[in-house]
Amino acid sequence: MNVHDSEKVANLLYHAGHVAAEQEVDADLLVLNTCSIREKAEHRLYSELGALRAWKASRPGRIVGVAGCVAQQEGDAILRRFPQVDFVFSTHNLRLVPHMVSAARRGLRDARTDEDASLARFDLPDRHPDYEGSTPGRAFVTVMEGCDLFCSFCVVPTTRGREISRPADAIIAEARALVGRGARELTLLGQTVNAYGRHEARRAAAADTLPFATLLRRLDAIPGLVRLRYTSPHPAFFDDALVRAHAELPTLQPHVHLPLQSGSDAVLARMRRRYSVADYRDLVERLRAARPDLALTTDLIVGFPGESDADFEATLGLVREVGFVDSYSFKYSPRPNTRAAGFADAVAPERASERLDALQGLQRELTLRYHRSRVGSRCDVLLEGDSRRGGQASGRDPYHRVVNLAVTADARPAPGEIVPVRVIEATPHSLIAEPLPVPSGAVEPAAGPADEPVGRAIPRR
Ligand code: SAH
Ligand code: SF4
Repeated sequence: MNVHDSEKVANLLYHAGHVAAEQEVDADLLVLNTCSIREKAEHRLYSELGALRAWKASRPGRIVGVAGCVAQQEGDAILRRFPQVDFVFSTHNLRLVPHMVSAARRGLRDARTDEDASLARFDLPDRHPDYEGSTPGRAFVTVMEGCDLFCSFCVVPTTRGREISRPADAIIAEARALVGRGARELTLLGQTVNAYGRHEARRAAAADTLPFATLLRRLDAIPGLVRLRYTSPHPAFFDDALVRAHAELPTLQPHVHLPLQSGSDAVLARMRRRYSVADYRDLVERLRAARPDLALTTDLIVGFPGESDADFEATLGLVREVGFVDSYSFKYSPRPNTRAAGFADAVAPERASERLDALQGLQRELTLRYHRSRVGSRCDVLLEGDSRRGGQASGRDPYHRVVNLAVTADARPAPGEIVPVRVIEATPHSLIAEPLPVPSGAVEPAAGPADEPVGRAIPRR
């Protein structure tokens, strides 16, 4: 979501006549987009700002802006504490960035962190012809923002504000425009993306939204779109239509990021997650019945206040049972203005670290096991660029796994292309594959499942 907010800011700046600098040393303007989901992310901002003092001083007229959730949380305190910062703006005020840059050029410092409960914040210009976005062939589309669930550990409802969904027509129009410009894959974004439209549907007068599964269906029908994804869904909002969409929509990819947080009912209740372990298991079964090769990834928190050894063992047990293909796991970090910040029974930091290590060890085992199960199978890869270590072309398969291609530099497909491959090797973090010849007469490689051993045929329209 933050990456996409940065894209929106970059796009607004293009429209205001700015162009992207190759590197920081060439730039006159730097906007830091921030996250405050955990304390560590917030501290990153402060150390970056320290380093930027010298950057700013080394060329007159350089401008520094701070955006995002820390900006929302701290507001003009950032201006007071860091004289090197010219302006601060929150996620509801992205469209103000060009004005804030102009004001900063006139020597004015400003912080705009007011909440905007209207749809106006979605009113952003189309992609500027010179702006490519951050990943060729792929694009994000915001469908809703904010969160009203108030999980006891989470700062998002206070930093991102109340839930609000965009009208379906605006989403579909943006999606069409992006596909028209060459996007092959779209990822729908929302804090609880599958809660899309729930409040709007109740207020019939403003019901410009659609049920989430219907929205997916409408997007699936866009000619030229090959892959459709959404993130992050909340387990409480999977109705039968959404589960069925995974069986029926050819573009909907066989991967769901389904945050679990804990495998203990007692902890889930204190987290106010609104589902039990049994509910989560049941949802996994329904999704797998619809799409047997579905790859599931998740988010987990260890060391939540009151988490006992038995609670943590239950998390390990459920992670193993579900067989997550990957997970993001975090040590609980108390956040301002959240219920859990006041909870007694904090878990000792060393204990939380041990648990995190154990959980991540288990995940490495599960990820490698999954990767090994894929060796020998075919799939399509949407190329993104070079692999992390460089040297190889790298992209994502339908299951959202990173796939690196064993090809020589001259035979390397371009970023944004979709190429059929066969997986030849499993590594802990990625798959290695060789390209397969594109079947003659194929206009577009088929999106969708691998054949063996994890695939099954999905009829294309
Ligand atoms: N809306 C999504 C999660 C968004 S936050 C959902 O409800 O599933 C992304 C992830 O950050 C969460 O899933 C959680 O695992 C982690 N997270 C959020 N607050 C945290 C905190 N206070 N400490 C540690 N991890 C946290
Ligand atoms: Fe945070 Fe819970 Fe909302 Fe996710 S659902 S953003 S974890 S409050």
